[in-house]
Amino acid sequence: MASSMLGRTAVISGGARGIGRAIAERFARNGAKIIILDLDRDAVAETAEEIAEASGSDALGIGCDVANRDSVEAAMEAGNARYGSIDILVNNAGVTRDNLIHKMPDEDWDLVMSVHLKGTFLCTSVAQRYMVANKYGKIVNISSTSSLGNRGQLNYSTAKAGLQGFTRTLALELGRFNINVNCIAPGFIDTEMTRATAERLGFTPEEYKAKRAENIAIRRVGVPEDVANLASFLCDDEASYVNGQIIYLSGGPETRR
Ligand code: NAP
Repeated sequence: MASSMLGRTAVISGGARGIGRAIAERFARNGAKIIILDLDRDAVAETAEEIAEASGSDALGIGCDVANRDSVEAAMEAGNARYGSIDILVNNAGVTRDNLIHKMPDEDWDLVMSVHLKGTFLCTSVAQRYMVANKYGKIVNISSTSSLGNRGQLNYSTAKAGLQGFTRTLALELGRFNINVNCIAPGFIDTEMTRATAERLGFTPEEYKAKRAENIAIRRVGVPEDVANLASFLCDDEASYVNGQIIYLSGGPETRR
């Protein structure tokens, strides 16, 4: 069966690498026209080119700071001008600045809040205009199991918990316009973000993954494609009755770690 994404336009924030890139690759294979937003203009252009070449779908990379309204407005406008609609949005851009509360500078608190929360708000507030006008939309927000509490990630876990309330409320507001809003809360996914965490804690990436896998029911850490598979389902019309849900994607039932 052909994917309902065929010919739709999908915006993926933070898609130059990691989970966002895997989502963009998967959506392109589903036949969507891809718009990737990321901070590094050159990196995002290169990723878009590689995705277009590999999939045969259209892909556009736009340098954009999701925490800046002018930057987001300009990026969405450019995407809409190129493809004629914005149908799908994955709010994936993210950063970590981990620390215990007594060592956390205000700047690190503010940065994490602004990329995850304000960035998701801004991208959504602009994208939903196009979606409401077309009476069609799929929005997926990327939260984290850290939202349940994770020592040393006060800023990040607070922001990721915030995205869950954002998801539920937005689903209530936008459902009447045929827009689905859902949230994926991944556990450990092997990307540069988790490799940086390994390094900070004094492990090699392989050691850290093996250690973390011991506490995961299916005994492996996640890969970006695991998130892409679920995002692909949630952004397909097959999932059109799934709305306002938070789905934990962590190789097991989510329990206190
Ligand atoms: P990643 O490899 O670090 O990728 C994140 C991307 O977001 C980077 O390309 C980064 O660009 C971009 N970005 C950061 N700030 C931005 C901004 N202001 N505007 C636009 N783009 C920005 O991380 P990842 O592991 O793929 O994570 C993707 C998402 O999944 C994040 O929201 C993360 O919190 C979430 N998540 C990850 C895991 C995990 O285990 N990896 C688990 C749960 C949730 P620069 O490189 O230029 O900074």
